[in-house]
Amino acid sequence: MSQQIKAIRGMHDTLPDEMPLWHFVESTIIQTLHNYGYREIRTPILEKTELFKHSIGETTDIVTKEMYTFEDRNGELLTMRPEGTASCVRALIENGLVQSNHNRLWYYGPMFRHERPQKGRLRQFHQIGIEVFGIPGPDIDAEIIIMCARIWKALSLDGIKLELNTLGNPQARQDYRERLIEYFSDNRDQLDDDSLNRLNKNPMRILDSKNPDLKKLIESAPQMAESLDDESKDHFATMQTILDTNGIKYQINPRLVRGLDYYNRTVFEWVTDRLGAQSAVCAGGRYDGMVEHFGGPVTPGIGFGIGLERLTLLLQENEQIDIPQENPDIYLVIATDEAIDAAMKLAETLRDQLPEIRLMTHCGGGNFKKQFKKADKSGASLALILGSKELENQTIGIKSLRTDAEQIEVSWTELADKIRNNNLIGCYSSKARL
Ligand code: ATP
Ligand code: MG
Repeated sequence: MSQQIKAIRGMHDTLPDEMPLWHFVESTIIQTLHNYGYREIRTPILEKTELFKHSIGETTDIVTKEMYTFEDRNGELLTMRPEGTASCVRALIENGLVQSNHNRLWYYGPMFRHERPQKGRLRQFHQIGIEVFGIPGPDIDAEIIIMCARIWKALSLDGIKLELNTLGNPQARQDYRERLIEYFSDNRDQLDDDSLNRLNKNPMRILDSKNPDLKKLIESAPQMAESLDDESKDHFATMQTILDTNGIKYQINPRLVRGLDYYNRTVFEWVTDRLGAQSAVCAGGRYDGMVEHFGGPVTPGIGFGIGLERLTLLLQENEQIDIPQENPDIYLVIATDEAIDAAMKLAETLRDQLPEIRLMTHCGGGNFKKQFKKADKSGASLALILGSKELENQTIGIKSLRTDAEQIEVSWTELADKIRNNNLIGCYSSKARL
């Protein structure tokens, strides 16, 4: 008995009709990153589980609940990457590149987290992220945020807001940690199970809780500012000055701690109120201790990750943006089977002569009317028609599919010139005209 097999919950297909928006988003972001001097790095999707455990943190949601972890055939514990930073750090150390002087990197690819799927929250999702190594900031901290703002502008994305915080140096974090433990212990009876669990291991994570019942308690919790070291204060202030000078608006959110353990000093999120609880579109921060933690030389680092599903959801609502379509320009109708041979040859010649065009030849036969309907549905602006009469005369019919212009007939040898010189298709003119 045949059985329909479905995709895994929370893992989506991206269908051809959705791809023009994805391509627009990907190419716009990557272009901007290249404009700022970033270079791509690709790392494997599978890594040793310990890599994520030791970087993201043993008590974080990602490590305790969300990782796709399994034993491979050799009994080795592997995990499908839930984020990109740890792999990047590993790759740099392993390849001796930590101290290279060109360490502004970007990556793109699927990430995996076993979360409860909902709008903007998937189990396989995609991030474009950047990591910068070797620069202590605050200049680079400000620049990566300014670069984000440029990306939103290039995408015509509005309505997202920037939230900033600083987590200080490790000593300040430790001090803050103790104050939080004291505060939350005094209010122990109000904590949920998750927070009780975190209380002594990682109390800052309680601030990150999404439980609405804890909102009040969290709002009154002690703030980082009082524990902050002077250097981190200066770092934060200088970064804000650069942002101010560049017209970047932001809000300081003292409760922004981010869900991963490795951050220090600058943390930030770009948030929206249009995706329900899934508010963060882009998140990042500084992680100065991570390279050293993995056995590399002391090297500061900073980065961010953009969630593409959330971004495309937001952009889908915006009818103003002009997304380049991916239809063919020309559809070649082969009105008689005896013309197939010549039509294929003609199509190849045309592809040689006009390498920019998107030319789709009709395959699979069928009568003229059916083929012409397909040509129209393909979204092409022109139909080329090769029937018995044209075959005999070595000519071809050109018919606009988007205007009322009369069909014209040209010889095979004139075809490419006619298309190019008369601006018959989109890549030679913004409007097809015949
Ligand atoms: P959240 O608080 O929404 O769970 P996070 O803090 O876990 O987000 P990060 O680890 O900072 O997210 O990842 C960076 C970005 O990747 C997020 O801002 C978001 O846009 C996206 N992202 C994270 N998890 C998911 C997911 N499960 N599905 C879709 N996008 C996600
Ligand atoms: Mg999360």
